[in-house]
Amino acid sequence: MSPGKIIAIANQKGGVGKTTSAVSLAAALERKKKKILLVDSDPQGNATSGYGVRQSDCKSQLYHCYTQDIPVKTVLITPNKKRNLTILPSGIDLSAAEMELFPIEKREYVLKTMLEPLREEYDFILIDCPPSLGLLTVNSLTAADSVLIPMQCEYFALEGLSQLVSTIRSVKKSLNKNLYIEGLLLTMFDKRNKLTFQVEDELKKHFKDQVFRTVIPRNVRLSECPSHGLSVIEYDVKSTGAQAYIKLANEFLKKQN
Ligand code: ADP
Ligand code: MG
Repeated sequence: MSPGKIIAIANQKGGVGKTTSAVSLAAALERKKKKILLVDSDPQGNATSGYGVRQSDCKSQLYHCYTQDIPVKTVLITPNKKRNLTILPSGIDLSAAEMELFPIEKREYVLKTMLEPLREEYDFILIDCPPSLGLLTVNSLTAADSVLIPMQCEYFALEGLSQLVSTIRSVKKSLNKNLYIEGLLLTMFDKRNKLTFQVEDELKKHFKDQVFRTVIPRNVRLSECPSHGLSVIEYDVKSTGAQAYIKLANEFLKKQN
């Protein structure tokens, strides 16, 4: 197997669909028989709970790998034995990691060092980032080959984007020179809202074919599924949300060739 690709799913804004995209894309790729590791790098632990993994199911979490040299392999959890999908879980403890990492030398490279040996075992490693540009996100961007940016179609989205792009640029300059933008993904797309199309046009003007053709519509199934501990693919594969993420997985896989 060729070494797996690492993709950070990042945007410092909260509520733009990072976790939904990480969980749903992971499930859609798994459906395509890809072997996936989903790294929950957000102390809110939504990717972990979204897959039905409870805090009590995991003795250790990403936090312990960051701060106590616990081997990653002992922390990995498979939410359902049949699945080709593994999770590196997180919870609220992870919020202390940024402080604890601060005095460490090469503190930006800790996640990279953790994930590099795992590349051989997966087709894709997806990292769900927290809503900030702090050390956890910088570690994710340093570990990644590319970054996927989910965006909600609203006016302030573009403002936040320039800040994210400048962070990506500085990570590229000093920590990870090969990092590139995998794509911008429009989420919670609402055809009835004129602003949606204005934001889409503006993005395409600046980012051209870096914007995924697939857009993710607003769909209630996507907001319901986490409370069932299922991705939308298992929860309701026929829903427009699930179909959109399946389409995204196809577009994403095509880009890899
Ligand atoms: P982030 O990880 O960027 O904070 P989430 O993926 O958690 O964002 O999404 C924020 C909220 O919006 C969640 O309650 C989620 O269920 C909901 N949501 C995300 N994408 C959609 C969508 N396409 N349609 C409807 N609800 C969505
Ligand atoms: Mg999230």
